[in-house]
Amino acid sequence: MSKRNIIMISIHGDPATEIGSEEQGGQPIYIKDICRLLSKDYRIDIFTRRKNKSEEEIVELFPDVNVIRIEAGPLEFIPKDKIYLHLNEFFMNTVRWIEKNKKNYSLIHSHYWYSGSVALKLKDYFEIPMVHNCHSLGRVKYNVLEEEKPPFADMRLLEEELILRRANAVIASTPQEVKNILDLYNVTGENIDLIRAGVDERLFRPIEKTEAIKETGLDFEKTILFIGRITKAKGLRILIKALKKVEIDFNKELKLLIVGGDISGAMHSEIESREKKYIKKQINELNLSDDVIFLGPIDREKLPYYYSLADICVIPSLYESFGLVAVEAMACGTPVIASKAGGLAHTVKNGYSGLHFVPGRSDHLAKRILGIITDSEKLREMGINARIRASIEFGLERTVRQIKVLYVSLIF
Ligand code: UDP
Repeated sequence: MSKRNIIMISIHGDPATEIGSEEQGGQPIYIKDICRLLSKDYRIDIFTRRKNKSEEEIVELFPDVNVIRIEAGPLEFIPKDKIYLHLNEFFMNTVRWIEKNKKNYSLIHSHYWYSGSVALKLKDYFEIPMVHNCHSLGRVKYNVLEEEKPPFADMRLLEEELILRRANAVIASTPQEVKNILDLYNVTGENIDLIRAGVDERLFRPIEKTEAIKETGLDFEKTILFIGRITKAKGLRILIKALKKVEIDFNKELKLLIVGGDISGAMHSEIESREKKYIKKQINELNLSDDVIFLGPIDREKLPYYYSLADICVIPSLYESFGLVAVEAMACGTPVIASKAGGLAHTVKNGYSGLHFVPGRSDHLAKRILGIITDSEKLREMGINARIRASIEFGLERTVRQIKVLYVSLIF
């Protein structure tokens, strides 16, 4: 039987763009990873917003996986919090594209509420089943974390509830996400499937320290690694504060490596620029300039060298719906110290594959770092456990197998 066609929608987060823009977080990476494996059985078109004229309209990511760029709003980078203004145009131009190209799809799979909102309309228009990944939830952000509400907050909450009710299946990536949906939204939840995100173990594997030093050109007595976008929610401020506290009681060489952030400056919002300025100022004021190294964005293929080089990977996020970095570090055999928040409470097992600390508490984080950084035996043991946990619970093959079972149950 020939392969069925699937539409994926990722309006913000184009899986075919370079890393280093603020929209290049876990979502496009997850999509790229699952599509690579799903393409053995399906032909997939990933619809995303076109950001400039020079971008090609269609890019082949892998055989049978194409990215289709649809015009909606100005042909320029728009920060994530402004994209909601262009959802209707995205819907209409997507329908036009599909009809012009005489495409026939069997299922639509959307990511984040922007895409979910458009997917609901496409589901009705083409009469096809819909699968949705939340990636983050408005009610968690505004009600639980009490984040400042952006202008679209009310629209988001309304749309989210519709998506959660009307999608044929909602993929939740952690038990915490299942609980959040059931507790915070007016839904019955029989359409929720728990499918954990996973990482490719062939890419994320432990690498000998000597090889990692040679590849990265970095060689320090002790190394802490942070990987992620530089936004307030990622908690880098807390880690910097903790580092200062650690240094007071620690007399060996200790470096903090920071990977990520948009160094090109071309594609980031005001918010990210402000946070970067704040962090740089904080580092200067705390006299940490020699101990913190900004490496900028690094290609995912090279990241295993950095994970393997580090003694510990710290994830100080105030909230993470899943947190791919935690699992990547674990798969490379690196213990993780993470705030006990969102998905991190589930991916990192306290005292086994890493340690938890109270979100937002730099004193607790400093204590955690000091308690483990010189204990080579404990670090080694946790590193081995981390790898085992990543392999048993968070393998990409398993994630994709479960998604396929779900697709098969919805496609006739
Ligand atoms: N990443 C990368 N290069 C970088 C920084 C980050 O490839 O320089 C990847 C990282 O490996 C991870 C993703 O970006 O796969 C971030 O996903 P995560 O779920 O941790 O956070 P999000 O950005 O979705 O909040």
